[in-house]
Amino acid sequence: MAQIRIEYLRKSFDQFTAVEGSTFTIDDGTFFALLGPSGCGKTTTLRMIAGLELPTEGKILLDGEDVTFHRAAARDIAFVFQLFALYPHMNVGQNIGFPLKCQGMARHEIRERVQETARMLRIEHLLSSKTAKLSGGDRQRVALGRAMVRRPKAFLMDEPLGALDAEFRHLMCGELRDLHDRIKATTVYVTHDQLEAMSMADQIAIMNKGRVEQIGTPQEVYDRPACMFVADFIGSPSMNFLHFEGGLRSGDRAINFHDTRLAVPEIREDRASAALALGVRPEHIRFADAGSVRGEVFGAEYLGTTQIVTIDTAYGRVAARLPSSASVRIGETVGLEFNSDRLSLFDAGSGLAIRTAREEGMRHG
Ligand code: ATP
Repeated sequence: MAQIRIEYLRKSFDQFTAVEGSTFTIDDGTFFALLGPSGCGKTTTLRMIAGLELPTEGKILLDGEDVTFHRAAARDIAFVFQLFALYPHMNVGQNIGFPLKCQGMARHEIRERVQETARMLRIEHLLSSKTAKLSGGDRQRVALGRAMVRRPKAFLMDEPLGALDAEFRHLMCGELRDLHDRIKATTVYVTHDQLEAMSMADQIAIMNKGRVEQIGTPQEVYDRPACMFVADFIGSPSMNFLHFEGGLRSGDRAINFHDTRLAVPEIREDRASAALALGVRPEHIRFADAGSVRGEVFGAEYLGTTQIVTIDTAYGRVAARLPSSASVRIGETVGLEFNSDRLSLFDAGSGLAIRTAREEGMRHG
């Protein structure tokens, strides 16, 4: 299997820049998700790694070898477009062996490779079955088998579950991750669905307008977003932003938030007075009579174990995730208390996160 490294990768279509100077490394055996909204450059990045699109600038290295100008076929990478598209007139074994047959491999060799692949995917017992009768999970295994049988160095997948309904997609995410854990193939997976990325990936690169905004584990990008775009994109409902003006000093453990003082994780940089934003995840808010931010309950959405309560404050509408047992009355005035250890701070102008002790806490344990 393989390490994939991309360096200063850029792709322009005439005047329009679809991918802007990406640099990152995907370690051998990693399940790596490229996540972002429609049009942010995920597919273009993937197509460049596959060799289906030539970069305008930059390099692609596969296990240290520069493959930037190698043809797709010479890269030894499997591009999986649609996991469920199988040949209906062939049985499972023929479906899996088809790419080898196209390469002109000898029949006995194809047989061995197909059997080895089926063994890895635990579908040996299905080799002579027709594909029409297979369950969704088995269809996915066969489609992956067809990609694996060539023994590629890496798998590239572009929204392979996009056409499925939500429940089935969730099931397939579990299947795909399970397969990855057994095969340990380097996988680059493009999706605009944060739940898919969060549930499957070891590492997520979040893209916005052609740029990679942050790369990290699902926990890192959720808990310590590098910028307001990531904070807003990851999490449902999104992180709340409460805007204020002020200066910050390294070592401070509280901020002047309008006319009140709020405890925050220790600040690790100096800031002259600037437009700032306090970032609060909905689950880090609770109702407290003495809470320093007050507001009026606008609505409540019951979700079973929790409820999402929206509150109109002087600083905008805020979403809080509360236990469904909490009694909430629309229109009542409530005090809000934030879990001070879990707050984020951003420069509202650049959108970038302010460094705090939380970041270090994450990196070192
Ligand atoms: P989606 O999820 O909608 O596919 P994406 O993040 O994968 O989005 P890309 O398909 O990489 O985005 O496209 C990035 C931008 O580049 C889009 O604005 C798209 O219109 C543009 N683009 C992609 N391919 C071409 C092309 N061949 N010619 C011109 N513009 C292109």
